[in-house]
Amino acid sequence: MMNVTTPTWNHGATISFQPPSRNVHTVFVHCSASDRANHDDVSVMRQWHVNRNPPWNDVGYHYFITKAGHIQTGRPVANIPAAQAGHNTGTIAICLHGLKEELFTQKQFESLVALCQSIDAAYPNQRIRFRGHREVSTKACPVFKYKVVLGLDASGHMTGGSNTAPPTSAPVAPPPRADKSTQILDNGKPVLILQSLLVLLGADLQIDGIMGQMTAQALKAFQQQHSLLTENGLDAKTRNALIKALDRVTSLKKPDKGQKVKALQQLLKLAGAKLTVDGDFGNKTHAAVEQFQTRKQLTVDGVADAKTQQALARELLG
Ligand SMILES: [Zn+2]
Repeated sequence: MMNVTTPTWNHGATISFQPPSRNVHTVFVHCSASDRANHDDVSVMRQWHVNRNPPWNDVGYHYFITKAGHIQTGRPVANIPAAQAGHNTGTIAICLHGLKEELFTQKQFESLVALCQSIDAAYPNQRIRFRGHREVSTKACPVFKYKVVLGLDASGHMTGGSNTAPPTSAPVAPPPRADKSTQILDNGKPVLILQSLLVLLGADLQIDGIMGQMTAQALKAFQQQHSLLTENGLDAKTRNALIKALDRVTSLKKPDKGQKVKALQQLLKLAGAKLTVDGDFGNKTHAAVEQFQTRKQLTVDGVADAKTQQALARELLG
């Protein structure tokens, strides 16, 4: 069961941000990359972050804004966040719960504006910059138009003071360019593909299409091994590295059984084959591999060798 955290400020409450004694020059805005209701609490983020590999001692963000617009406190603001690799010192990190741009709520945006105004007002003698995580990362985070929501000028300063227009009536500026090739993973097909590939590469994972902690850790481990700096997004570099890593995998063939066969079957199925994902490399799987090899003009022998597995990955990640 999820622990529900009491918000520090409910939606609409007066926010009184107390500046920490450490130097602060920038506020970074994030999204949680999930729309799931059971992830809509800072305690869940904390759990994810303290169970990371290597573990953190607390949630990385200072504030978490729920879909209802309540502001929950995460890591004490006196401490440096763990939220923007290489850009944590001197910052405050705020995370809004959400993945799909259209599912962020007006209440969340109102609370974000109110919190940022309160932070801005707490530093009368300096200009705080407000930036999106994606400005310093290949991630698409946050996926909403934070510059419009916050009414930022070109240098990332809040322009409207207390008169900041509500987000819906703000002129729609072209969104800042995100790395289009980055996929933030929620659940479903992209996660099935990712899990299957990680299993083929040796990870011990359930292939269930759910972006849980085990999958996130396995992806992170893969990215660390390949010196990729991205966090939970499946960016172009990670996709290429996954495909490349498959050139060392062992062949799968009749009558192999097990989790790797399951992963292969899952990928074949996602590529259009009609078969049951049962972990048993039988005649149907053999035929599906032959069919795929024919389509890809590979050696047709029904043996899923490294080339065949790579071709599958390329087709599904492309
Ligand atoms: Zn982020």
